[in-house]
Amino acid sequence: MLTDLANQPGTLWVDGNFVPWPEAKLHVLSHSLHFAGSVFEGIRVYGGRAFALHQHLERLAASAEMLGYRLPWTVDVLEAACHALLARQELVEGYIRPIAWRGSQSVSVPAAACRVHVAIAAFPWPSYYGEEQRRRGLRLAVARWKRPSPETAPTASKTAGLYTIATMARDEANAAGLDDALMLDWRGLLAEATGANLFLVVDGALHTPLPDCFLDGITRRTVIGLARARGLEVVERRMAPGELARAQGAFLTGTAVEIMPVAAIGERELDPAHRLIGMLAGDYAALVRGEGPAPTP
Ligand code: PMP
Repeated sequence: MLTDLANQPGTLWVDGNFVPWPEAKLHVLSHSLHFAGSVFEGIRVYGGRAFALHQHLERLAASAEMLGYRLPWTVDVLEAACHALLARQELVEGYIRPIAWRGSQSVSVPAAACRVHVAIAAFPWPSYYGEEQRRRGLRLAVARWKRPSPETAPTASKTAGLYTIATMARDEANAAGLDDALMLDWRGLLAEATGANLFLVVDGALHTPLPDCFLDGITRRTVIGLARARGLEVVERRMAPGELARAQGAFLTGTAVEIMPVAAIGERELDPAHRLIGMLAGDYAALVRGEGPAPTP
């Protein structure tokens, strides 16, 4: 991860122009800074190829529409901008972060008068967790913050406002010596981690919470496809925390974390070396690098 994100060499794409990295600034009276209405994406680049770029940019546009605004650029224009930026940054392994926000035409709640901006950054980001964490698996706290109901927040959008509780939950877990937090939803059901989706391995099948109040991750859907291609049963359903007792293994999925084994959720210990997790991680690694799923063992 970069240490000082504001001061790097290279270029960002901002509102249609390439600008030197340190000059990509916004005004402190930007509406989205005050009211958390920005929407963003994260895309991983493997061997110079941005995995599922089009899907991510479509989700960016959909997130903005859920918040009540339209991006001033089409998905195709943004996709071309990402490719041009990758070439300029000479990025082979890394991460792309597009973000859209409302500008400085209002400091009060109504936003209709605000101009919409879009910026894209691309930078190296080798691995979210170290090799040691990957081997031993993540230890997750159970967060005191709950994922809100879709009647309370635009839960299908990747908007900054929804990350306030995620950041608090993650920082509290890290301060307690744990790696991340599992968030329950407003009903008390299993939901997701602070930036990744959850899967349980139960008697040779995968069980994953129904994404009815949190992001239906692109990695989550990819893994469901890979598992079904392996002939595994995948069950999407509502699950109470007590169901963790039935699981032998668990893992998280997300663009940044990829497929990450879990060693514990609260008091429940799980097998981070479960065979199915390793198999799916291998299939995912092959897919994102354009090699297709590995053959059945
Ligand atoms: N949930 C949250 C809260 C996230 O931030 C992410 C990462 N974008 C995910 C789930 C996983 O989504 P994806 O697989 O599309 O990256």
